[in-house]
Amino acid sequence: MNTPILSAHNLVKHFSAGGFGAKRKVVRAVDDVSFELARGETLGVVGESGCGKSTTARLLVQLLTPNSGSVRFDGKVVGPELPLKAFRRQVQMVFQDSFASLNPRMTMIDSIAFGPTVHGASAAEARRKAQDLLDRVGLDPARFGGRYAHELSGGQRQRVNIARALAFDPQVIVLDEAVSALDKSVEAQVLNLLMDLRRERGLTYVFISHDLNVVRHISDRVMVMYLGEVAEIGPASSLYTAPRHPYTKALLAAMPSLDPDRRTHEAPLAGDPPNPIDPPSGCRFHTRCAQAFGPCATQVPSQFAVAKGHLAACHLNRSEETVA
Ligand code: SF4
Repeated sequence: MNTPILSAHNLVKHFSAGGFGAKRKVVRAVDDVSFELARGETLGVVGESGCGKSTTARLLVQLLTPNSGSVRFDGKVVGPELPLKAFRRQVQMVFQDSFASLNPRMTMIDSIAFGPTVHGASAAEARRKAQDLLDRVGLDPARFGGRYAHELSGGQRQRVNIARALAFDPQVIVLDEAVSALDKSVEAQVLNLLMDLRRERGLTYVFISHDLNVVRHISDRVMVMYLGEVAEIGPASSLYTAPRHPYTKALLAAMPSLDPDRRTHEAPLAGDPPNPIDPPSGCRFHTRCAQAFGPCATQVPSQFAVAKGHLAACHLNRSEETVA
């Protein structure tokens, strides 16, 4: 089997929420999350806000240090076996806030050229590369290269942020709600650009979004997170047509349909997610699950293999093979 380009192994991240000694409280943002990324694939990550998807992204790119667990790049453990500097060249991130990601005092050319210069490229070489990349993301270098962040629209700034990520010649890009702040028409253009770049450069994406329609459009596989855990993961085609976790079913039922005749007016997911400081015992979804039964409140469900490459952490799938 091919070595995954990037993999997360039992990642745990708890944030302090105050208190001392026995009364110390922690937010269990990410709890025992594991997954793998094959070269060239796009893994979509979905879930309500506070489910841990952005924390997982930051752990993956090493912007946060996990309490336990590890990240491997091409089979090597980041840190002990692969220095952080080498890893950062290979795995880049694009954030939702296109403005905050750019230095307001740098021109767009300098912003893109900055990374390669830090990693040893000559100024002329880095500038040439920045011009080529601006052109590639659809911005005329002669017109946009000398501009500052406030002189660009949100869509143009996000194109610059994509060019900045590409300037390192990475193999993986983690996109955290990267198109969520854009108008629908601009969002579609940036998504098309991302798909073209993936094809041209053999890139691998982790695509985090609250928009299930967009995730379906761009992803090969999808991971659904709930209260810091993986509820379900599988190929986008089977996860969207035959979900096996009640939480995924509820999310999909709440998804706005593009077909006006099929729009749902109900809210299948009642209430807010429970407090991650004190998550429910057993299956964390049991307090909101319409299908909860005997073991759900006390026993943590394993990841059950429900189809090829498709896992769901729900006791309803107990007759299936357990893989974790
Ligand atoms: Fe619902 Fe139980 Fe499945 Fe959790 S394990 S999703 S509570 S049926």
